[in-house]
Amino acid sequence: MAARLYYDDSYTCDFTAQVVERLAVDGHPALVLDGTYFYPASGGQPADSGTINGVPLMELRTREEDGAVLHVLAADIPDSTVNGQLDWSRRFDHMQHHTGQHILTQAFVQVAEAHTVGFHLSPDSVTIDLDKTNLTAEAVAQAEMVANQIVWNNLPVTARLVEEDGATGVRVRKKPGHLLTDGLRVIEIGGFDRTACGGTHVARTGEIGIIKVLKPERRGDKTRVEFRCGGRALVDYQQKNAVVNAVVAALTCKAEEIEPGVARLQEEVRSLTRSLKTATGQLLEYEAERLLPAAREDDSLRVVKHTYEGRDAGELKLLANRLTESPNVVVLLGTSGEKAQLVLARSADLTQDMNALIKQVLPLLGAARGGGQPALAQGGGVRASRLQIEAALDAAEMMLRA
Ligand SMILES: [Zn+2]
Repeated sequence: MAARLYYDDSYTCDFTAQVVERLAVDGHPALVLDGTYFYPASGGQPADSGTINGVPLMELRTREEDGAVLHVLAADIPDSTVNGQLDWSRRFDHMQHHTGQHILTQAFVQVAEAHTVGFHLSPDSVTIDLDKTNLTAEAVAQAEMVANQIVWNNLPVTARLVEEDGATGVRVRKKPGHLLTDGLRVIEIGGFDRTACGGTHVARTGEIGIIKVLKPERRGDKTRVEFRCGGRALVDYQQKNAVVNAVVAALTCKAEEIEPGVARLQEEVRSLTRSLKTATGQLLEYEAERLLPAAREDDSLRVVKHTYEGRDAGELKLLANRLTESPNVVVLLGTSGEKAQLVLARSADLTQDMNALIKQVLPLLGAARGGGQPALAQGGGVRASRLQIEAALDAAEMMLRA
């Protein structure tokens, strides 16, 4: 089996190797090298990215039969001696988060006896799943503090191979599948943690920089803990700091006053919404009183027909309800705009079917949809001009009088 050189040295990112096998993987050329520093995806850690002789790697795959690392390439390389270069910023990010995960996992064991049952690391998120749901905010904060203390203590991180039965006291979350013959690879973080793991890690905990828990979230019978280490934690802090500065400027307050400031704004909005609702109700009443006498009276039927522009459909419905409180009234209202609406209604003493009527006129507005009750129906939702709405309401009135 070709050597996985990153086991003993996760810092080399520029190396020379011999090609020992050439093959095709899914129609792409692939190489097996006599030794590789490229890490193939495994154990929750994504694969490295990089180039071989300047040709980008498309995928790093482990061949199940013999554990060989297949370097799948975008183009063939004829040379027998090749130069591999891996993306160091991506690798170091993985090293920081993988080592940070070991520390945070052990911290949750010590603080809350919560054990890690899952680990996820991708460009967008890093999480561990704990086998407990009743974690208090204090316990989470305490675990975070323990983890960062280990970072600041700058403990050595070492890897060694042990016989499987000699691994007593070693936490094995999931046996790394590619450790076929060598026994267990155990990662030790000072005297703090021992875990079987095949991933890449920093040499000393100080390189992690910081371990920041973003939020714990209940997932069934588990708790998902999202966290960031090192560079990603810094980016996260920069983004959140920019948000805080923007909010502070908008509210003209201090950072520690944001929470009560937002609560005050929410209360103001609630109060204003109540006032607006009352005022709108009063306005609609005046509007109804003004519209009704202007209604055309014909065969004792009073028809109120009106077209608005960009008016709220809910408001039209309220207005229609108000108008049809009087007897012998038919209301034909419409509003033009991006989401045009028709509202057809009649007083309780009349018998005309507004639901049937609206289904006859809606096709005039193209793909408009709607319906309702015999006394009130509404529909629309498509873009329509004032002229189109007026034509639809005229048609409705003609059908009504037919
Ligand atoms: Zn690890």
